[in-house]
Amino acid sequence: LEPKEEFEHKTLAMDVMRPRQSDPPLSVLTQSGMSVDQVEAIIADTSYSGFPIVVSQESPRLVGFVLRRDLVISIDNARRCQEGIVGASQVLFTEQTSNPVGPPPLSLRSIIDLSPLAITDHTPIDITVDIFRKLGLRQCLVTQNGRLLGIITKKDILKHMAQMTNRDPESILFN
Ligand code: ADP
Repeated sequence: LEPKEEFEHKTLAMDVMRPRQSDPPLSVLTQSGMSVDQVEAIIADTSYSGFPIVVSQESPRLVGFVLRRDLVISIDNARRCQEGIVGASQVLFTEQTSNPVGPPPLSLRSIIDLSPLAITDHTPIDITVDIFRKLGLRQCLVTQNGRLLGIITKKDILKHMAQMTNRDPESILFN
C-alpha cells in the first residue's frame, strides 16, 4: 500500500461527520409531537440547510430529511392559508393516525425525502467520496446500529479533502 492509500483507508465517515464532540448536538425534528412554534424556533436558532427527521428523541431512527427552505415555505403558507393552523398546532411528518386533541395538525409529510441516503459510521471516507460523486449528493446521514449519529455535507467532504492535500476545496472534486 502507498502511504496515502493507507491513510485514506483509516479515515472513516465518523471522522468527517458533524457534530464533532465539541459541537452542539445534531438538530433533528421528530416525526410527530413537535409544535409549529417548536419547529420555527429550531429554524430560527440554526442556519443548517436541512434537518433529519427521527422517530423520537428516545429512538433516533431515521425517518427522512427535510430541506430548511421547504419547511419555511410550507409553514408560512399554512399559517396564512390553512384554517386553524396556529403556533400550538402539531407538525406531523407521519401519516396521521388518530385525531389529536387541540388545534388541527399541520401535515408536512409531502415535503420530506423519505429515503435519504445513510451510511454507517464505519464507512471508509474514500467510499463515501465515491458515493457523493456518483449520486451527486448534497448531504448524507450517518447511522450506527440504526441510530442517527450525524450528517456529512458535500462541503464537509471538500474541506476534509482540502485538509488532506492542502489544496483549495473548490479545485478538488466537484464543480
Ligand atoms: P454546508 O456544509 O454546505 O455549509 P449546512 O449549512 O447545511 O451546509 O451545514 C453546515 C455545517 O453544519 C456542516 O458542517 C454540516 O455537517 C453541519 N450540519 C448540517 N445540518 C445539520 C444539522 N441538522 N444539525 C447539526 N449539524 C448540521
